[in-house]
Amino acid sequence: MNVGEIMTTEPVRATVKTSLHDVAQMMADKDCGIVPVVESESRMAPVGVITDRDLVLRTIAHNKNPLHMIAGEVMTEMVVTLKPDASVEECVKVMENNQIRRVIVVNKDGDLLGIVAQADIARHAPAFETAELVRDLSVNAAARSVVEEQEDKMRAFVLPAARPVEERPLSLSLLPVPRPGRREVLVRVSVCGVCRTDLHVCEGELEPRKGNVVPGHQAVGTIVALGEDAVGKLAVGERVGAAWLAAVCGTCKYCRAGLENLCDRPEFNGWTRNGGFAEYMTAPIDFLYRLSAGFADEHAAPLLCAGIIGYRALRLTGIENWKEARLGIYGFGAAGHIAIQLARHRGAGVYVMTRDRERHAALARELGAVWVGDTYDAPPVELDAGIVFAPAGEIVPPALAALRKGGVLVLGGIHMSPIPEFEYRLLYGEREIRSVANNTRADGDEFLEEAVRAGIRTSTVEYPFERLPEALIDLKHDAVRGAAVVMIR
Ligand SMILES: [Zn+2]
Ligand SMILES: [Zn+2]
Repeated sequence: MNVGEIMTTEPVRATVKTSLHDVAQMMADKDCGIVPVVESESRMAPVGVITDRDLVLRTIAHNKNPLHMIAGEVMTEMVVTLKPDASVEECVKVMENNQIRRVIVVNKDGDLLGIVAQADIARHAPAFETAELVRDLSVNAAARSVVEEQEDKMRAFVLPAARPVEERPLSLSLLPVPRPGRREVLVRVSVCGVCRTDLHVCEGELEPRKGNVVPGHQAVGTIVALGEDAVGKLAVGERVGAAWLAAVCGTCKYCRAGLENLCDRPEFNGWTRNGGFAEYMTAPIDFLYRLSAGFADEHAAPLLCAGIIGYRALRLTGIENWKEARLGIYGFGAAGHIAIQLARHRGAGVYVMTRDRERHAALARELGAVWVGDTYDAPPVELDAGIVFAPAGEIVPPALAALRKGGVLVLGGIHMSPIPEFEYRLLYGEREIRSVANNTRADGDEFLEEAVRAGIRTSTVEYPFERLPEALIDLKHDAVRGAAVVMIR
């Protein structure tokens, strides 16, 4: 037999950076199993067929080397095992019974030897010859890193100490790939949005809650491993989004009243726990969002905070008759440019006040603003409600002055400079001021549905991973048109 012939002509997508996660992904994408082989004399004998991609991922999660397991120690955990001297025909039978069309072949050292198509094996049975197999496959050396990368680390931006972003407080570090805990999953991050809250974390306006935290809370990625009991809701391979709210206690009076956004003991991605400015992050499975295929990763990321918070801010305006509504938006960054699209889709007339008279004003007009003015300009009509996304307390008095009687002013930021004194008459007439604090999961689910219906399009500025510190500086100086997103892989 010429072993070369039994290998498919399909390229084996193994590179020096091929990770076990990638092997697992390959199993899914290519409908693969794994056949480990052991050497005896000059013969390479298949010892089993791993049909279960989750098994590979579980062993990664427990920091075991699945390829060592394959070498024979924990064979009972295998989905299907073969006698050590099983013939190729028996191997093929297992593949057929488990509806596996191809297999990835690895030896006991973890070298990835190639992908073999079932039909080809069948045609060219009866045996793998060690020498020929190795000689005919050029991926051997590259595949050795399959094992190496498992002990490898991930790149992540950590915050040793808060400082102005111009001083570049984040440092690019190598951290161990985290392991998902109970009811958590491991997410391989592809894109992470950059939000004003990340600025507040990096500059210390939000007090540090975790040393050397990895910020980032608008992460889009793929689930690559499940922790203990993390079953049911989402599966390995699914594309998900991780947002600001990472967990709640479930028992405090707010949680019990359905106000989990106000939980007394909440966890936040990128503040109290590591977030998405990294190649991998863990997240509680119950707080991840499944993302519509209609949004590319880079366009989905800004929806996860800017979008959801904008949605909640619109809700807190109390507006019911959107068709007749006149809404003011103060500050026109990531959240503003999404909120205007929702409000326009609902039928409202939107008035935008922004200090950036070029990029932001132009984008506001493109997105259908009735009128665009400077931050402190009075809009030409009385507003039913206003939303302040800019973190500047000085905006509050003029924004109140722009409201009709009974109108509501919603403050959308997590941090704001002090609000100056103002005359009571600005508030009189049953005007209200309220803040938005976080969001509930229901907000997130409802928003992501409406975003699809409303055909939300996010304007993004993309930064390569290494240039993430520049994204923060640009955001601080209003130099981003729409939302900043970091391309992680
Ligand atoms: Zn709670
Ligand atoms: Zn945010």
